[in-house]
Amino acid sequence: METFDVIVLGTGAAALSAAIRAAAEGASVGLFEKADTVGGTSAWSGGMVWIPVNPHMAELGIDDSREEALTYFASLSHGLIDMNLAAALVDAGPEVVTWLEQNTPVQFQIIKDFPDYQPEHPGAKPGGGRSLECPLFPFVELGSWRERVTVGPQLSGNLTMSETSLGRGAPQGVDPSELERRKIRDERGAGQGLIGPLLKACLDRGIEPRTGMRAVRLLQEGQRIVGVEFETASGAVEVGTSGGVVIATGGFEWDPGLVRAFSRGPLARSASVPTNTGDGLKMAMRVGAGLGNMREAWWVATIDVPVGGRMAAWQVNGERTRPHCIMVNRRGRRFTNEAANYNALGAAFHVIDVSSFEYVNHPAWMIFDRHYLTRYGLAGFKGESAAPDWMTEAPTLAALAQAIDVPAEALAQTVARWNEQSARGEDTDFARGKSVHDRWWGDPAQGPGPAATLGPLDTPPFYAVQVYSGVLGTKGGPRTDGNGQVLDVDGRLIPGLYAAGNAMASVMGMTYGGAGGTLGPAIVFGYLAGRHAAQAAGSPAAQAAGS
Ligand SMILES: Cc1cc2nc3c(=O)[nH]c(=O)nc-3n(C[C@H](O)[C@H](O)[C@H](O)COP(=O)(O)OP(=O)(O)OC[C@H]3O[C@@H](n4cnc5c(N)ncnc54)[C@H](O)[C@@H]3O)c2cc1C
Repeated sequence: METFDVIVLGTGAAALSAAIRAAAEGASVGLFEKADTVGGTSAWSGGMVWIPVNPHMAELGIDDSREEALTYFASLSHGLIDMNLAAALVDAGPEVVTWLEQNTPVQFQIIKDFPDYQPEHPGAKPGGGRSLECPLFPFVELGSWRERVTVGPQLSGNLTMSETSLGRGAPQGVDPSELERRKIRDERGAGQGLIGPLLKACLDRGIEPRTGMRAVRLLQEGQRIVGVEFETASGAVEVGTSGGVVIATGGFEWDPGLVRAFSRGPLARSASVPTNTGDGLKMAMRVGAGLGNMREAWWVATIDVPVGGRMAAWQVNGERTRPHCIMVNRRGRRFTNEAANYNALGAAFHVIDVSSFEYVNHPAWMIFDRHYLTRYGLAGFKGESAAPDWMTEAPTLAALAQAIDVPAEALAQTVARWNEQSARGEDTDFARGKSVHDRWWGDPAQGPGPAATLGPLDTPPFYAVQVYSGVLGTKGGPRTDGNGQVLDVDGRLIPGLYAAGNAMASVMGMTYGGAGGTLGPAIVFGYLAGRHAAQAAGSPAAQAAGS
């Protein structure tokens, strides 16, 4: 049987971080991917990485501390955050940033001014600093792997997030000649800009991902994990390990049975790679892993938009936050602060009316007017032609209500009240625009106050698009210690088993600290797991088990 010091499952950010760090300890690393392409949802993402007390904050004169970061975690916990794990993240995060920058092509820069997602909470950074991203990375450096990184439907272009409307770094857009220059060396930003250098760091260390290998079962000797069985096109293959297996196979959002078993409420769409079917979770469950955070996900509101011949779950984050747009439920009523952070917003979709026993706010409708559409557009459409199939257009609000089957009178009242509140500059119903977060995601050109996200719906025609409770991925899984080692149902370590990224019970509980709140912990716990597994490979106990 082929044997490695460390086996890493998956090729998202958590997996690549684990593989690189294990190799740096001198371990031989086997990196296995179920799909034919690599990078996972991480490659489809914005590539933002949330690391409190990161070294770039000091360079910009931004104060942060362990205490502040942990205070922030505690304020968001609702009793669901394991504070020891939170401390492990905060303590290791700065080291991981520095280590990656010194030992790999991965470099980070702060996305300036990007506020944490609950910026008014104690310990938060309303002026940003904790959200990092990588600069553009030239994919020509990946050789034959250049074409083998998965590309998502929504992001993945030649821009950094700082240069998008979200990051505010290029208010006038990037010069076309500069964009042309980037294409020559295939310089990519966002999630591609993160996965590119992580993958290069693996290749530089001789770690070549093996694709088309779906891990299905852990091999055990006594308690210790000593290998993995894979399903491949040519049949089952077993691979051994002396140090351990790092499960970094993403979440379980694409497995309807697991979603039904665990999800807190409707999980109607997933914006992640469809190979994330909870294989790692099932493998860990079979060997007795204790589970945590199972009902939680990285919630995000999505709409259905055709991309490349199929319907994609398109996230509407800035889209639902900008002026001249509201969300209503099936009763034609607003039901939440539309500009709240996407993860928190998920809870509004999960409300049940206890009398009718309906998820009364799900699915919901985004309602906007001509002014919104021509100024901001939606999913690439700016009203240049007749509304596409996925958008309902009507000349009046009453006609729109009829077309989408919501009570016309209620919709008229809702819009009238919204317009009145917009004129007053204050949403007294749901406090939209009160938080610095809401204003950041709105339209800064409308001013620094709530106007950045308020604005009447008064310019016909009117439009509606159905909005679903979607996810970027689930975030429940095996519970781990501060080294990424998996704990069993009794809280004891399962020797040789590690988990990181969306495959582990997230350190974030039900919250999302700031932009990069999933990838930051994924990289940090991947790093810790990879290092520990590599060191275990050198230990006499592990070597005895592996021999
Ligand atoms: C459009 C978009 C934008 C986002 N932007 C951000 C952002 O800017 N910052 C942020 O923090 N988060 C962001 N997210 C969320 C973030 O991308 C994910 O939470 C994160 O990538 C999860 O990383 P991971 O390594 O755990 O999993 P993934 O990156 O999903 O990788 C898991 C990998 O495991 C593989 N796999 C699954 N099963 C097996 C198996 N049995 N054997 C072998 N391999 C297997 C999968 O094929 C996949 O390649 C975004 C998500 C989307 C969709």
